[in-house]
Amino acid sequence: MEKIMMTTPIVEMDGDEMTRILWQFIKDELIIPYIDLKSEYYDLGLVNRDMTDDQVTVDAAVATKKYGVAVKCATITPNASRMQEYNLHKMYRSPNGTIRAILDGTVFRAPILVRGFEPHVDCWEKPITLARHAFGDVYRDVEYSVPGPGKAELVFTGEDGREIRQTIMDFKGPGVIEGMYNTDASIESFARSCFRYALSVKQDLWFSTKDTISKVYDGRFRDIFDRLYETEYKDAFESRGISYFYTLIDDAVARVMRSKGGFVWALKNYDGDVMSDMMASSFGSLAMMTSILVSPEGVYEYEAAHGTVQRHYYKYLKGERTSTNSVATIMAWTGALRKRGEMDGIDALVTYADNMDKAVISTIESGVMTGDLAAICKLENVTVLDSLDFIRAVRDTYEEIAGV
Ligand code: NAP
Ligand code: MG
Repeated sequence: MEKIMMTTPIVEMDGDEMTRILWQFIKDELIIPYIDLKSEYYDLGLVNRDMTDDQVTVDAAVATKKYGVAVKCATITPNASRMQEYNLHKMYRSPNGTIRAILDGTVFRAPILVRGFEPHVDCWEKPITLARHAFGDVYRDVEYSVPGPGKAELVFTGEDGREIRQTIMDFKGPGVIEGMYNTDASIESFARSCFRYALSVKQDLWFSTKDTISKVYDGRFRDIFDRLYETEYKDAFESRGISYFYTLIDDAVARVMRSKGGFVWALKNYDGDVMSDMMASSFGSLAMMTSILVSPEGVYEYEAAHGTVQRHYYKYLKGERTSTNSVATIMAWTGALRKRGEMDGIDALVTYADNMDKAVISTIESGVMTGDLAAICKLENVTVLDSLDFIRAVRDTYEEIAGV
């Protein structure tokens, strides 16, 4: 059998703990046998991040900008107990945060739908992909308690000394106060990433804010989306037969609950935080959720939404059997390889990714799965496999589907 050739490398970011183990299984069993893999490898495992003073994370992000497509394994975000466990020099920032800041990207989270795991909202036939604007608003607020009566004002002093001053509240007694902001540059990047992503998956884009109440603040988000759509993306949307649709957040929530799914829903930071937890729990499992970072220029980084599955890793280290779900990590790989194939015009790579995704789904639908899925599955005759055997079962199904 001839391997599929690649022309441009993808950026490969290795990670930590159980997902690092899965990473190697996936490469050995599902990728290297079929693809002449070209990847530029960056080890984002915590040991190497510490050895390189986190430079490796920055280098990986810069390489992603250069090549346009990356796949990332889950990584540990250090906290106090990790400082001890790994004897770290510093409490490094979250790699995802570092990469997102360098790429100026937006994260799109989409559930992986499989028969036998119906979403709690039973009209959702297709996945709903959520895009959260992860910058500013209450996440970068300034807030404090107001001790007693007095006047609260909002003051902006321009570089030219010009002042804008407005009374927020004449307090008669104690209370609280909060100031927050966003920037046109960040909102524009967010909007561009959303338009690009919707075009790349050929799905409608919904956007919602509360601009009836917050006429200037939320109104600015709406205006920027509207302007960019009209001036830069409308023709491309129309030629692909998809649409951009703005509606109030309350109306959007009501419509989403009655929809069949199959669209991208863009949300402000707080709305996205809340709605993504709702979406993940309705679709069943964090282990069945992919996460794609898209930059405004159209650079793509694929990963699983879950973490490094620490508890399973400690079992694995003790030589115990683990049944860790590799589906989202496999689909991070196929997502990256499909995108590479599309960008470079390599049809065989796109077909490979499509067939591998089908193999994953059809393996599970045949009743063969990992323990986390068996626990929430409505199918009869379920077989639970360990981490590696599940990946091997996917490989067998792939070979049947692809006829290799
Ligand atoms: P987690 O790794 O997502 O795991 C939480 C629990 O969810 C697991 O203990 C397991 O439950 C279940 N689970 C998650 N993924 C699973 C899978 N693929 N297969 C089977 N079960 C799965 O979250 P965490 O334990 O809070 O975080 C562990 C480390 O991951 C932390 O150091 C954190 O910083 C990091 N993290 C990284 C990313 C990222 O890189 N994108 C995201 C989140 C967290 P049971 O134990 O009950 O089986
Ligand atoms: Mg949340």
